[in-house]
Amino acid sequence: MTIKSPRSAANNISLVLNTVLGNDRFDRGPVNVGELALEYTRQISPHSHIEQVVARDLPGCEGALVPGDTKPRRWAIMHDRKQNAGRRAYTIAHELGHFVLHRQLVDEDPDFDGGFHCTKEAVEHGAGRDIEKEANEFAANLLMPLDDYRRRIPSDQLAGLDRLGDASDRYGVSLTAATLRWLEYTTTRAMAIASVDGFALWAKSSEAALKSGRFLRTKSDLFELPAASLAISKLSRDESLEGIQQKAGVWFPEPAFEMSMRTDRYDFELTLLHFEGKAPAYQDEDDFQDSYTQFFRLGTRA
Ligand SMILES: [Zn+2]
Repeated sequence: MTIKSPRSAANNISLVLNTVLGNDRFDRGPVNVGELALEYTRQISPHSHIEQVVARDLPGCEGALVPGDTKPRRWAIMHDRKQNAGRRAYTIAHELGHFVLHRQLVDEDPDFDGGFHCTKEAVEHGAGRDIEKEANEFAANLLMPLDDYRRRIPSDQLAGLDRLGDASDRYGVSLTAATLRWLEYTTTRAMAIASVDGFALWAKSSEAALKSGRFLRTKSDLFELPAASLAISKLSRDESLEGIQQKAGVWFPEPAFEMSMRTDRYDFELTLLHFEGKAPAYQDEDDFQDSYTQFFRLGTRA
């Protein structure tokens, strides 16, 4: 099997869907990824495709791609029963990514005898082995194709939580997934921070924000949000969503426009920061850190 890039593998499927359903397909609804997993794999691998997509109780696991014992292999995708629709779509797309990109490992690497079992951190953030990052990238590209997303929110426009919420509805994914995807392509300076009880779980900056030094450091495992931040303040939900202008010194040595809301599962606060102006035109690549910071070392904890 030739090695494919996650992005091109997902884009090839998107092109087929555009041809069959039209370039305006997202106006009529998100990718039906459960159906797609069955039909697409039957086409590319008629004798060894995904036969079932099923909900299960999967303790400690968000989803799995599991092979049967007989050969040619018969496959199933399992997703945790407790997921809402947005998380389910992302999980199924992630497992389809393992099928398209990695299924040969089941016969080549004893570590994958039982298939692919993916944690929440692997599905949401691609944490863990490289294959998790690849499956995560495949899922983001399949569910939120950049050409369509850019038509909704142009690269050079700042997007608030309201517009990102519209995007999450359009693509049938969580607000977090839609926000992370936007941060990947926007040329504006913005960053997202997830927090619980005033402490950051993870933070991600757009490339332009990163280039201008707007990222959170991981020197200690804990990052406490500023006392003036919305996630800590007692503003109403609507006021937090609308956002406030924070003075220089609250988050960074420059002002920031801050919005905040509780996420779909109400298990953490999502904070979005917008900064004015553009990033410096040039900075040495070596100075860049990964735009993604995970506090608590998600996915690597024993
Ligand atoms: Zn995985």
